[in-house]
Amino acid sequence: MPENGSATAWILAEKIGREGPIALSEYMGIANAAYYSAKDPFGEQGDFVTAPEISQMFGELIGIWLSDLWLRKGKPGDAHYVELGPGRGTLASDALRTMTRFGYDPDIHFVEASPALRAKQAALHPGATWHDTVESLPDDGPLMIVANEFFDALPIEQFVVTPQGLRRQMVTHEVGKFVMVTDDREADDPVSRATGGFPNGTILETSPASAALLEQLSGRVAKQGGVILIIDYGYDRPGTGSTLQAVKNHKPVSPFDSPGTADLTAHVNFHSLANIARSRLLSVHGPAEQGQWLKTMGIDQRAAKLALASPTKADAVRAAHHRLTNSEEMGSLFRVMAATSLEWPQPEGFSD
Ligand code: SAH
Repeated sequence: MPENGSATAWILAEKIGREGPIALSEYMGIANAAYYSAKDPFGEQGDFVTAPEISQMFGELIGIWLSDLWLRKGKPGDAHYVELGPGRGTLASDALRTMTRFGYDPDIHFVEASPALRAKQAALHPGATWHDTVESLPDDGPLMIVANEFFDALPIEQFVVTPQGLRRQMVTHEVGKFVMVTDDREADDPVSRATGGFPNGTILETSPASAALLEQLSGRVAKQGGVILIIDYGYDRPGTGSTLQAVKNHKPVSPFDSPGTADLTAHVNFHSLANIARSRLLSVHGPAEQGQWLKTMGIDQRAAKLALASPTKADAVRAAHHRLTNSEEMGSLFRVMAATSLEWPQPEGFSD
């Protein structure tokens, strides 16, 4: 049984004992469900800080971006605000406050798995509707969907190139520890068929959960109208190597140490998400670097105005601006990508 036994570690160890090694996606799904259901992980006191928790400017600029699209589409009265994994509900507060100024006051739909975070969100947005999955989202109007740091938390699979062909990476439990092992059967994952030419030992990642989710959402937006805005850390071109990571108390830890007590994430494959949205006939914009996108949306002007309005907070505003936009901080690693219905206008903030 696990050495440093969190409840989740026991559940996983018991499952592996019964069934043998499990897929990495299963391990990650169980670990993250436990992690988010138990606590509020955000902020300096928590495990990590997200952009909306750094500054109100982030959500405000997203609110302007959504309002601009909505206005140019002719103010459809039934366009719903949808957020995937809204965390504390901060981004929604800042975005919706700004949207109201433009006369856009939509109803609010949150897709959220964590009971602890649902309670936080309800305190700020008592009128919202919560959904376990995207299936139950309204089907009677355009969907304005926002996902910040959501896709990185969805389970991934890893494969390794071996002399015998492609093999799936599994998680097992040995001598009190979780470890990765390579499956000895040929991998049956069709996504990873194009592996020719990679040297032995190369790791390839996929996220079937992300792909399935975006397929569903893209189908809805193609039919109902609207947009999907995805902001996350990730890469634009197909890449190799493991991006699986875990963070606890603002420090990297092993993803296999004490599952359920750290946030497990992987970099988002924007290349593959863009292809999925395009295959569902959406128009894809970006990915752009977060810093560039925020600057195009007016973060410099907004920061100057905030600093002028409350001089005692000017240093904090400047620090937040730096953190969100500088390429050594979140400015380049984080990407912004939008997928719009073909019947909707071109969104702002992208050069394509
Ligand atoms: N968007 C927020 C929070 C990001 S953390 C912010 O930027 O601050 C990831 C969020 O996604 C959390 O709210 C978490 O509970 C939620 N989440 C993670 N996996 C999920 C899943 N499979 N289904 C629904 N929500 C999920």
